[in-house]
Amino acid sequence: MLKAMDTQKKYCPECEDVIRGRIDKKFCSDACRSLYHNRQNAVRSNTLKWIDKRLKRNRSILEKLYDRCYPRYEVPLKQVEHMGFTFDFYTHKEIFEKKEYVFCYEYGYKMHSDKYVEVIKHNLFGDGLDLIA
Ligand SMILES: [Zn+2]
Repeated sequence: MLKAMDTQKKYCPECEDVIRGRIDKKFCSDACRSLYHNRQNAVRSNTLKWIDKRLKRNRSILEKLYDRCYPRYEVPLKQVEHMGFTFDFYTHKEIFEKKEYVFCYEYGYKMHSDKYVEVIKHNLFGDGLDLIA
């Protein structure tokens, strides 16, 4: 069981030493605060890099498919999977002509049946949508 005194002690989240001084102090020292925040920032930065890498790889795959497959309308799903596309990672969804497309930046796709993927490119700063068709 903790004594009453122990429950009021605060511990440094970096080194776990008891924090002495002002009641609102969160770290035992400036050095510990720095180390702690640097590590938090590194974790956040690695997480962003990890997600960005997948999004950019997906974009790159859609770009290749879009360029390579023109003017074909659909790409076999197996080919998309074979290139390493990660369907769980995308930037946004948009509806064109009542159909929902999933985008990785300006390249989007839509499943046709379970076997084909339609790839499109959104001309964000131009006149709209380029379809492979
Ligand atoms: Zn500390």
